[in-house]
Amino acid sequence: MNQVEQKTAELVKLIRALDWFQFEKLLALLYTDSGYVVCRMGGAKADGGVDLLVEKPGKKGLVQCKHWRAWNVPVKEVRELFGAMNDHHIPNGVLVTVKGFTSEATEFAGRHGIVLYDEGDLVEMILNSSLEIHPRIMDLLRDERKFCPRCERIMVLRTSKRGSNPGRQFWGCSGYPGCKYIFNLDDSDKNEPIAARTFQRRKTTPPPTNDTQPAHSDTLKETLNVLERLFKALR
Ligand SMILES: [Zn+2]
Repeated sequence: MNQVEQKTAELVKLIRALDWFQFEKLLALLYTDSGYVVCRMGGAKADGGVDLLVEKPGKKGLVQCKHWRAWNVPVKEVRELFGAMNDHHIPNGVLVTVKGFTSEATEFAGRHGIVLYDEGDLVEMILNSSLEIHPRIMDLLRDERKFCPRCERIMVLRTSKRGSNPGRQFWGCSGYPGCKYIFNLDDSDKNEPIAARTFQRRKTTPPPTNDTQPAHSDTLKETLNVLERLFKALR
């Protein structure tokens, strides 16, 4: 494996490991590097088809980020972005994901001049980023901490004690109870088609038995690992 191939493999791994909020920040950095002023549109609320507004003299665009690692983005998401472009009277739109797009999505995007990027495009952009921005991109990619999309405080791994699924792990904002924002583990894939299907199947099958729950020692080990990383990061 030559150096570029090695770097590419490393970048792909790091991009896949991001959460959706970090993924959005990566795109913001890449657009900043191209001379754009970047503004977050959705914040922590459900996105209305658009995450970032990017602007530089004579050019304005909407960027939607979908950190989907397992599924191709279907045409529905491209239509939503197109709707947002019309609502905001902005002619340029970019949809960014990790894995790829369905052929229907690619066809629709092509017809409306919407640009589609997957992880291969992102790797290329990162490799070509400026000396000024590149270190900031690598810092972001290698940072294993999670930050609250609502208030930017650090997120901590917690285990729910009550509710319908005690023992479930999730990322909670360290600003709790002031900020109640949570990430479910694997939050970035929450909008993928599989999520809906899993939900439907759960309704018709009996609840999982105990042996499908993670072993307690594993959970504890994972929590300790995360705490150790957090302390290292804070030092
Ligand atoms: Zn918060």
